Amino acid sequence: MTETGHAHGHDRGSEHGHEHGHPNGPEIEQAWLDLVATARRSAADGLVVGTSGNVSVRVGDLVLVTPSGVPYDRLTPADTVAVDLDGRQVTGRLRPTSELPMHLEVYRNSTAGAVVHTHAVHATAVSTLVPELPLIHYMAADFGGPVRVAPYAMYGTDALAGHMVRALAGRTGCLLQNHGTVTYADTLDKAYDRTAQLEWMCRLWLTATSVPGRTPTLLSRGQVRDVEEQLRGYGQRS
Ligand code: 13P
Ligand code: ZN
Repeated sequence: MTETGHAHGHDRGSEHGHEHGHPNGPEIEQAWLDLVATARRSAADGLVVGTSGNVSVRVGDLVLVTPSGVPYDRLTPADTVAVDLDGRQVTGRLRPTSELPMHLEVYRNSTAGAVVHTHAVHATAVSTLVPELPLIHYMAADFGGPVRVAPYAMYGTDALAGHMVRALAGRTGCLLQNHGTVTYADTLDKAYDRTAQLEWMCRLWLTATSVPGRTPTLLSRGQVRDVEEQLRGYGQRS
C-alpha cells in the first residue's frame, strides 16, 4: 500500500492531515467524540449490527480506537482508548478493538488519518462471490481501481492484517472475504463516506447481476482511470 494516498483519487495530497508529534488533551478529546459519533453512525445506518466493526483515528503519533465489544451508545469521554503505532496502550483501561493489527497496518503503510471497518451486508455478500468487485460504477475510481477481496483469515489476527494490507495496495478500501469492509481516508468523515459508497456499489453489482438472463455491462480500467483524474476536481473549490 506504499503509494496509497498519493497515487489515486481525489484525496491526492490531502491524506496526511495529521501533524506528527504529541497531541494535546483537547485534540484527543475532540477526536474521541468524532470517533464515537462515526461508530454510532455505522450502527444507525445499518453498516454494522451490535458491536461488529471498529473505527480508529490518528492524532499525531497516537491512534484512538473503539474498545473491543462495547456498544457504541455506551461510550463516554472516560472510555477513551489510545495506542501508539506499535500498539502499546497509552490511554484507557478498556481493551482496544481486536482488529488493532489491521488498523495499525493501515497507518504504518499509508498516510491515513482514519480507518473504518464494518460488516456491511452487501459488501460482505460480494466478498464471498468474487476476488474483486467488477467495475460496475465509476465510483471505483474513488478507491483507486477495482476493490479487491482479501483472502479469509480469522478476525483479529496478524494474518488477516497481512492479507488486508496486500489487498489495499494502491487502493483506499478493500473487502475481507466472508467478513466485511475496510476503508481509510484522511478524515473520519471521508473514511466513513467511502465505506457507505463501497456498500452502495456492492449492492448495485448484486442488483445488476441478479436480473435473470442478463449480464451487466462493466467499465474498462481506462474509463475508471479517467474518472480518477476527473474526481480530483469534483465538488466545490476549497
Ligand atoms: P471488536 O469489537 O473487537 O472491535 O471486533 C469487532 C469486529 O468486527 C471483529 O472483526
Ligand atoms: Zn469485523
